[in-house]
Amino acid sequence: MRQSQLSIHSENILPIIKKWLYSDKDIFIRELVSNATDALNKIKILKNQNEISGDDSLEISITTDKANKTITITDNGIGMTEEEVEKYIAQIAFSGAEEFVAKYKSETEKDPIIGHFGLGFYSAYMVASRVDINTLSYQPNSNAVFWSCDGSSSYNIGEGTRKTRGTEIILNLDDQSLEYLEEMKLKELLQKHCSFMAFPISLNGKSIGNKEPLWLKSPSQCTEKEYLEFYHQLFPLDPDPLFWIHLNVDYPFHLQGILFFPKVHKRFDANESTIKLFCNRVFVSDNCKDILPDYLTILKGALDSPDIPLNVSRSYLQVDHNVKQLNSHISKKISDKLALLYKTDLNKYIDSWTDIEMIIKLGILQDEKFYDRIKDVIIWNNNKDEWTTLSDYLSRAKEKKVYYATSDKAGSLLQLYKEKGIEIIFAPLPIDTAVIQLLEDKLSTSFQRIDGAMSDHLLDPSREKTLLDADGKTASSRIASFIQNAIQEENLTVEAKSLASDELPAMLVLDENQRRLRDYIAMTQGKTPFPTKKTFVVNTNNALVGTIERLQQKNPPLATDIAKSLYDLSLLAQREMDPKDLEKMIARQTQILEKLGSLIT
Ligand code: ADP
Repeated sequence: MRQSQLSIHSENILPIIKKWLYSDKDIFIRELVSNATDALNKIKILKNQNEISGDDSLEISITTDKANKTITITDNGIGMTEEEVEKYIAQIAFSGAEEFVAKYKSETEKDPIIGHFGLGFYSAYMVASRVDINTLSYQPNSNAVFWSCDGSSSYNIGEGTRKTRGTEIILNLDDQSLEYLEEMKLKELLQKHCSFMAFPISLNGKSIGNKEPLWLKSPSQCTEKEYLEFYHQLFPLDPDPLFWIHLNVDYPFHLQGILFFPKVHKRFDANESTIKLFCNRVFVSDNCKDILPDYLTILKGALDSPDIPLNVSRSYLQVDHNVKQLNSHISKKISDKLALLYKTDLNKYIDSWTDIEMIIKLGILQDEKFYDRIKDVIIWNNNKDEWTTLSDYLSRAKEKKVYYATSDKAGSLLQLYKEKGIEIIFAPLPIDTAVIQLLEDKLSTSFQRIDGAMSDHLLDPSREKTLLDADGKTASSRIASFIQNAIQEENLTVEAKSLASDELPAMLVLDENQRRLRDYIAMTQGKTPFPTKKTFVVNTNNALVGTIERLQQKNPPLATDIAKSLYDLSLLAQREMDPKDLEKMIARQTQILEKLGSLIT
């Protein structure tokens, strides 16, 4: 055995690696198992090329030894000659380490990930105070080699004891890392990081049960059952996904994967792991949302790529040109899938709508290309409880205008539109406001909320009260000014009109543009910026309005109270009541009931 110096110039490099290289100690096992897999892959290639013979099964075995405080990772892969150990372990790795140190002397950001500096092997020093290697190369007439290094800058190298081809990495754990001797702990890590790896892995003689990564199979050979099973392997607690896309990309990266559209949970947890990222079947991370455009982060699944720059920071990923191209590739695949589903299975598409509409709506707001591809499959529920696209809506509509409601509970107001045969779509989500704005631009049409204007369509001119009295006023203008006086509110105009439906006593009309501006400011600044001009339209064909009319002379105070109540109820129905006015309203209602009660008894 001879002693030699690690070929590095920086002293104490291992403490630096320990401190900065990985924020998460656990990953040492995936690094070492990955190296073992690489070594097995090389043997597999040589066997395929008939360079070597033998039908021994290629595998990785991991054993723990509590008494000696060691973990040993053994593979029957390619092995290393003495020269190779010197070259690959001692020199290459440390030149990588030098680069690492140089970089981190000058940079403030410290979140590198795996492999970037060819330091995978050295992650062993995060848990081990000494690492021994026992290896025998596949090359004929090789000698077994033993290498040992305690993390200082010198190592021992000499003759090893291995009789068969392959490598053993023996980790002599430091006292802070003894937890890894627990089989449960190690098994959990292996299952997390290594369960899709290409070769069988055992821990203390028991298989960890590796699975075949479905993403590597050709999509035409995967069955629905397999996709569902695979999904549940990744996300055991989730209900079945809605549908999925199988990706096989060669440009700008090599990337394979399956992305699932999950059923939207009631509880949406933004931190929940959604996309599991693999690098050559090794699980690397589930925090890689930047690989997908923002609006697709709701998707779940697995992506595997040897090329994605996993080793760089998240901020880099966001500006990386390749990642951007990948983003748009995935986005195209998704929109194609949705458009296809719309065409081939409309019922399923409609059933899935509540789960996918957020993706679609965020997508069209954030990505113009996505909008272009998806615009014909955006659907809306209408007041006949049917689903329609906007172009179908517009082809039926009498005016080039889209009437919409934010709630399907505005009962009598909806009734009024129904009686006039005007189709209404429902746009109940907060995001719909922005979607409507976008669609107005794109389709050169306008949207109007059902209480956004008093449209002529809603009137019944035949019953209009046009007769003039002695003062030259119509009954309508009289009741309007009476109610205006009763309510006494600034910025409010009262109009009395003959509406098509008798049922609706009154409605508040809020100018569409002013209301949008007000809602926008309220949403972004959390306050109502200015009083909006409102029009209160009372229906001269409604019985209650008739009562007020008759009570005007007979019992003006009661008529005033009822007029105020009518206004209150419209505010409530249209969700425009200021919560602080609720108390006053309750007091007023109570008084009216008392008065009415005393009139009857
Ligand atoms: P990387 O894997 O990124 O090249 P590592 O530090 O993990 O960097 O490993 C350095 C080199 O050591 C590998 O490229 C490989 O040549 C060699 N090596 C490491 N582990 C093994 C192993 N189990 N069997 C054979 N060679 C290995």
